[in-house]
Amino acid sequence: MSQAKRMMEEQEQKRRNQLEGYRKKLRIENKYEMDCPYCCEALSVDDVKKEQCIHCGHDLLWNVGE
Ligand SMILES: [Zn+2]
Repeated sequence: MSQAKRMMEEQEQKRRNQLEGYRKKLRIENKYEMDCPYCCEALSVDDVKKEQCIHCGHDLLWNVGE
């Protein structure tokens, strides 16, 4: 395996661990609201009020007016 590929995989693993940690934190604090419909990561009750997903940056259409 090339060094670059290994580094990318390590970063991906780190990212996944962070997301998993965030999901657990929300559940513990009882702030989990839903999964983002675009990237399927956990959003808190506060996150769903924002205009963009904090994970993938996709517009959260229920907050973005016309
Ligand atoms: Zn998302």
